[in-house]
Amino acid sequence: KPAAKTAAKTTRSRREPPRLSSPTKILFPDIRATKQDVFDYCSAVMDHLLPEIIGRPLSIIRCPSGTAKACFFQKHHTAGLELVSSVRLKEESGGSGEYLVVEDEASLLELVQFNSLEFHPWGSHAAKPDIADRVVFDLDPGPDVPFAEVKQAARDIRKLLTQMELQSFLRVTGGKGLHVVVPLNPGCDWDLTRRFAHGFADTLANTEPDRFVATATKSRRNRRIFIDYLRNGRGATAVASYSLRARDRAPVAMPITWESLGKLKRADAFTIRDVPATLKRRRKDPWAGIDRIKQNLARWAET
Ligand code: ATP
Ligand code: MN
Ligand code: MN
Repeated sequence: KPAAKTAAKTTRSRREPPRLSSPTKILFPDIRATKQDVFDYCSAVMDHLLPEIIGRPLSIIRCPSGTAKACFFQKHHTAGLELVSSVRLKEESGGSGEYLVVEDEASLLELVQFNSLEFHPWGSHAAKPDIADRVVFDLDPGPDVPFAEVKQAARDIRKLLTQMELQSFLRVTGGKGLHVVVPLNPGCDWDLTRRFAHGFADTLANTEPDRFVATATKSRRNRRIFIDYLRNGRGATAVASYSLRARDRAPVAMPITWESLGKLKRADAFTIRDVPATLKRRRKDPWAGIDRIKQNLARWAET
């Protein structure tokens, strides 16, 4: 049994989930998926989704009137949340703020009651916010890049990481691109993590400037893939595996095996409608054992 699953079971709270108001409200108008559908989806994938966000400072995307209307990104705890915990953390901009932390199933479902569609955790835990335990290479293709090239980029990055004796895992974002995720255990401070990710992206862009860019400037992308290393800083987030995306067809950010990358057609191939059944059918978690891998960036610290 995957470790993550066991963790979710043992931390599962007995607290009652909140009552859902407006269950028939349409949140994904193109597929007529309701707030109840979102609640049912999150309940169905709870054993997979909860371990990805539990105990981490969390940002959410809330769409109170559905994905066709305004949605907003929320980092901080707000009035009305009774089950969701918080942690007071230093802000990058100075001062401090109360960040959202989900500790159990009931609090995750309370966020659904508040019309949260997307979950975006930090790469660190609330108890140790300054220690990164994941590096995320966020592959953002320019508008003219075929998906096959994004797939090849992910494979190439994996190969380079393997040469550095770092195992990596793959997630389709539910949007346009892929995330290559490197677990760190024990974790590393954010300064080292950011320098590593930035250096890795710069090296790629310098070696193959026709394929990759490592600067956020939009105009330089077009036919290239932006290696978004900026996910790797204190306070930065990346979408959680199994989170819905507030986009057409309600796609899901889905971990996949490297072996199944070949037949993947697009980054939003998995949706609210098929993921629960896919998880039941699946024999193995593609990220099984990710939190037991002992590797980190210490040996690259000097470079
Ligand atoms: P795609 O494959 O379409 O790029 P993605 O999830 O990687 O999907 P990005 O736009 O590349 O989307 O964003 C990467 C991450 O940056 C997001 O998953 C999210 O956690 C974070 N992010 C996105 N928008 C904001 C925002 N407005 N404020 C802060 N962080 C954000
Ligand atoms: Mn991206
Ligand atoms: Mn990005």
